[in-house]
This record gives sequence, C-alpha cells and structure tokens, in this order.
Amino acid sequence: MRGITHSKARYYCQTIVGVLLGLWIGGCVQPTSPATDDKPRVVATSTIIADLTQEVGGDEIQLTGILKPGTDPHVYEPVPADSRILEEAELILYNGYNLEPGLIKLMKASGGKARQLPVGEVVKPLRLEKAKGEVVPDPHVWGNVENAIAMVNAIRDALIKLSPEDQEQFTQNASQLTQELQQLHSWTKQQIQTIPSDKRQLVTTHDAFQYYGDAYGIAIAGTLIGISTEEQPSAQTVQRLVESIKKIGVPAIFAETTINPALIKTVAQEAGVKLAPSQLYSDSIGAKGSDGDSYIKMIEANTRTIVEALGGKYTEFQLNK
Ligand SMILES: [Zn+2]
Repeated sequence: MRGITHSKARYYCQTIVGVLLGLWIGGCVQPTSPATDDKPRVVATSTIIADLTQEVGGDEIQLTGILKPGTDPHVYEPVPADSRILEEAELILYNGYNLEPGLIKLMKASGGKARQLPVGEVVKPLRLEKAKGEVVPDPHVWGNVENAIAMVNAIRDALIKLSPEDQEQFTQNASQLTQELQQLHSWTKQQIQTIPSDKRQLVTTHDAFQYYGDAYGIAIAGTLIGISTEEQPSAQTVQRLVESIKKIGVPAIFAETTINPALIKTVAQEAGVKLAPSQLYSDSIGAKGSDGDSYIKMIEANTRTIVEALGGKYTEFQLNK
C-alpha cells in the first residue's frame, strides 16, 4: 500500500467490498456465466476465414466458425442453429463474392445488429464467365497468399474496431502471421518452378485454383465444373476434358477434399493419367490432425501434392521465426 493515501486506500476497500457483495448477490439470483462471455463474439463462415481470424484474434475473442472442415461452402444449406449463432454475433466475417450463398442469404435476413464484413471482397477479383454468358467474380481469392495477407489486415482492422482495448495484441498477432504468410508466398513460388515448364498445368474438379495458378505460375488447363460446385457437368464437358488432358500430356490430375471424387476419377481413367494420390484442399482447410488443418498447412499440402504429382522437386516449408 506504499504510496497510496488513506482516502485512496479506503476507496479501494469500499470498491472491493462492493465487488464482493455484488458477486455474492449476483451469485444468488443468476447462474454464474463463463468468463468467455465477456469476450466479443465473432462469427466466421468459412474454415479459411475462421482460421485466419483465430490467429489474429487469439485469446481476446470468442470465435465460432459455422462451416466444418471438409464442408463445401457453395452448396451448404444452413441449419436452425446457424441463425442463432448469426443473431448473437457482434461481428460476422464472411468470404463474400458468393462463395457461401446459403449463409449469405441467411445472414442478410437475420435480425442481428452485428457488422457483416465480406473479408474476401477486399481483394480485386478475377472474373469468371458463367455458362449463360454472365460474368461473376471468382470467390477463391485465398489461393494467392498475398490476398490472404490483405484479408488478415481487414480482419485485424475489424477486430480493433470491435474491441479497441485489444489493438496492440491484434496488431502483433497480425504482423506475426503476415511474416509467416510472406515466407509461404515465396516458398510456394519456388516450389512450382521446380515442375518442368510443359507440365505446369493444373486439371481439377472445380475451378477453385485461378488465383493460385495466377500467383505461382501454373496454368489452369481444365476443370470439370466451374467456380460453383452447384453445376453438374454434361457428358460433352466430361468428354472434352478427357480429350484436352490427352492433348496437353499432364502426368496427373487432381480431386478435391470438398467434392465427391467419383467423376474426376473416371476422367483420369478415360484420359489414361493418374489421379494424384492426395486430394487438394480447395474450399476448406482439413480436419484437425490432417496435413491441411490450417490455412498455412493447406497451401503447403496443396503445393506438395501438385509438385510431387507433376514431376517437380519438393522441399519442405521451413518457417524462419
Ligand atoms: Zn469453390
């Protein structure tokens, strides 16, 4: 108590007695709530946004991710519990560019007062032609790690706005993550360059790798379906893809963790090429314990799968902290 005057000391004592009394009375009339209730409630739609948000928010936020690892966001149909989660949120972070149409619709209709931020829409989109001549923005922005850095900045700013007293922590977490992402970006570029140049061609189930291909120098040679998995490929589309795989001469094509691999398997057989032994994490990070259970590990695992299947020379990603 050295340095504290009598009146201050008395004030502290009164305050402590007041707090204790409050706790005692409060404890009698209502159930004690867990400490996490004090933290701002943040909701993220996709597993990728949730992972980046958890890294930036750390222990200062209470985060709920709606989509579970391995779930396809394009066709996800919300359940009643999702409405409640969205209504109780203080901040909703979603991908946007219509990646998760079911959840976006529910969110817009929900009565909650939370700020709704389309984190992926901070990125200037690549545009994709849809079948009916309609041009839509491609939502798979995270394929370029530099875009993920822009998303981290947006998440940091939104969290600071929500909880200004944690500004320092959020800033520090975001800058640590950004440093790691910068290393991941250069590593990915180097890895793809080890693939013989005529084999740097990617054939996947759905068109989720435009940003990845653009950033790391690998052409998207063909896909079974477009940017949304809602479409079903026609027999002609399948046949055309088989023909073009034969023509470009890639050694392997790729299935994805969020989509049934049956059809792409058939395409591989008919074209006489291998299906890569690991599936790509396209629209979701992997389940806990898998080799893609965070955004960083997902890019790392995808790069490994691509490099090894197309004849490159893979070197493990080492983080310099
Ligand atoms: Zn997708």
